[in-house]
Amino acid sequence: MQKTAHIIGAGISGLSAAVRLADAGYRIEVHEATQQIGGRCRSYFDAATNLVIDNGNHLLLSANHHALAYARAIGSEAGLVGPSRAKFPFCDLTTGQRWELDLGEGALPLWVFDPARRVPDTSLTDYLKLAPLAWARESQPIGDVIRCEGTLYDRLVQPLLLAALNLDPPEGSAGLAGAVVRETLLAGGKACRPLIARDGLSAVLIDPAIKHLEGKGGSVRIGHELRELAMTGERVAALKFGGNDTVALGPADAVVLAVPPRSAASLLPGLKTPTKFRAIVNAHFRIDPPVGAPPILGVVGGLVEWLFAFPQRLSVTISNGDRLIDQPREELALAIWRDICKAAGIAGEMPPWQIVRERRATFEATPEQNALRPGPVTSCKNLFLAGDWTATGLPATIEGSIRSGDRAADHVLAVRQA
Ligand SMILES: Cc1cc2nc3c(=O)[nH]c(=O)nc-3n(C[C@H](O)[C@H](O)[C@H](O)COP(=O)(O)OP(=O)(O)OC[C@H]3O[C@@H](n4cnc5c(N)ncnc54)[C@H](O)[C@@H]3O)c2cc1C
Repeated sequence: MQKTAHIIGAGISGLSAAVRLADAGYRIEVHEATQQIGGRCRSYFDAATNLVIDNGNHLLLSANHHALAYARAIGSEAGLVGPSRAKFPFCDLTTGQRWELDLGEGALPLWVFDPARRVPDTSLTDYLKLAPLAWARESQPIGDVIRCEGTLYDRLVQPLLLAALNLDPPEGSAGLAGAVVRETLLAGGKACRPLIARDGLSAVLIDPAIKHLEGKGGSVRIGHELRELAMTGERVAALKFGGNDTVALGPADAVVLAVPPRSAASLLPGLKTPTKFRAIVNAHFRIDPPVGAPPILGVVGGLVEWLFAFPQRLSVTISNGDRLIDQPREELALAIWRDICKAAGIAGEMPPWQIVRERRATFEATPEQNALRPGPVTSCKNLFLAGDWTATGLPATIEGSIRSGDRAADHVLAVRQA
């Protein structure tokens, strides 16, 4: 008889576990509490801009091997698009200076030896001083490992680590930052090509996964919140969704719990999870990007950090955004629009806009919170954890999420074989 894997939570972590297990022959039942699939990685129609927008601008890199393998498995790899070479244009809004970081195409960071390709006004020695980050411990704060000031910090290290960890870098876990640096900057331009789901996160990373699962006989139920895990000895015996809605598990069935930490902790009392989170603010403006606008522009010295050019839309990302959560929307939109005009070299009235503030965008990537991340294994033999907040060794990213989903699936498969 075909075994069933129940996936709780239809974010990218749950979907990646589901796809891997479906491809290994499991029948999949995905249970999602809300009415939308995709969790923190999804698209929706926005009436204010009359456009389909993403809940957040998401940047992937060619180093994100699990994410690319997932996209390949669901047939949507071609939807992740980016320049053929790892070039990152930047502008400084305070000085007006513009530069392009050209990381090349190789597997080594040879660009640091070429003054023309380095960040302006930086020397080789500045880059060598970052070396301790590569082998730092997760328990160390970044501020204890490298000097968080100077031109290289302001123009490269700060923007990169702020985006990757979603907090002010000095307070972040040096081990998590080191993992990012090892897998990207230290792995050369080959690993750093930016990739964007240009047609939207749902079109590229979510909808094809659902189609893939349904094509293999799986089901995806929305509005189906798991309320309780009923245990018998060391196994989950049934899933309780409220009222009489209970699903009994067969002896070989498995459960992957891929919900955010708060839900996981309430379903599994005693589970240690991160308890603090950080916001990300995204703003979207309905306007045709200027001709020749790069798909992604790094912005320093302003409120805006990254400017994305999509068809009919300019969108920005501001990480570590807790300070902006209560700012009046119109005031915030105007401040962002002023930065966009400077960065993109445009002028004019503010076009139709939308601001999306994700309060709990990521767990707080400090050493203290990072230490609270559990692994995939639980005390139940048929229950495994996934999620960007589990101990992946990476900050909360799509790559980390998909790794966690793949890892949970591999545990299910290992139990089957045992
Ligand atoms: C604004 C923003 C920008 C980001 N930018 C980037 C980026 O540029 N690059 C990058 O790599 N990453 C980025 N991320 C991070 C990335 O989006 C997340 O790491 C990833 O989406 C997390 O996926 P997940 O499946 O682990 O969790 P979630 O997406 O939170 O999914 C969990 C799902 O479980 C469901 N659920 C909860 N409780 C229950 C229950 N009891 N029963 C059933 N279902 C339940 C939830 O409704 C949700 O759908 C960004 C995140 C945000 C918010």
